[in-house]
Amino acid sequence: GGSSASGELVVDNLVVKYAPGLPPVLRNLSFTVKPSEKVGVVGRTGSGKSTLALSLLRMVEPAGGRIIVDGVDISNIGLEDLWTRITIISQDVSLFSGTIRSNLDPLGANTDQECLDVLERCHLTPLLKHASSSEFSMLDMPVNQGSLSAGERQLVAMARAILRRTNIIIMDEATSQIDTRLDDQIQQTIREELTGAIVITIAHRLKTIMDYDRILVLDDGELLDFGSPKTL
Ligand code: ATP
Ligand code: MG
Repeated sequence: GGSSASGELVVDNLVVKYAPGLPPVLRNLSFTVKPSEKVGVVGRTGSGKSTLALSLLRMVEPAGGRIIVDGVDISNIGLEDLWTRITIISQDVSLFSGTIRSNLDPLGANTDQECLDVLERCHLTPLLKHASSSEFSMLDMPVNQGSLSAGERQLVAMARAILRRTNIIIMDEATSQIDTRLDDQIQQTIREELTGAIVITIAHRLKTIMDYDRILVLDDGELLDFGSPKTL
């Protein structure tokens, strides 16, 4: 379709309600993210940041408006197709019970070397070396929900997204105990490994996203600003 270029993300007049009788949580939101742009999203708690992320993955259905990815209205494509184009790294990532390997590459599409490389590039190697016993390969390290912190689980999910080469990655920063060292590691990985992808980071500290291309400010479900971080 002529209105949207390949690799772009267009949000057009998006309205989201959690139930028909409730007031909208996102109100007529419109913005366009160009290929490879990095967008930070800020706003008070309850302003609709996570709801926006969920909408992009069709985990909530809009009451109005459209979301267009690669020129395609996402309501017209299958969920599996959508999930190959967009990855969301939620505030509380669930890992599969299994190993680091089964979490990085659930379909067995990558070699061990590729998996080890991506761990290295995401700065996860030192972290996992600590936690794994020397008799196992790092990839065979068992993981479950309790064995890694929220930030570490997000970094593993990011490594998975890098392996899968999704073009749009939405990162909803963990709120609970913001680990600034992990936060810096995640941002470094975004800068180094996701140069060609659209990255949308929902951030809790402005410092995290100061080097991004644009900052989207949400206020009570409305778009208050969508400009350069220098103008904030
Ligand atoms: P935070 O910074 O705390 O993560 P947020 O900006 O991500 O907040 P959302 O989680 O998107 O905010 O919530 C936006 C609004 O929608 C809030 O008023 C919230 O109470 C409401 N809401 C969120 N999820 C649901 C749900 N499943 N059912 C009903 N209302 C919901
Ligand atoms: Mg949230």
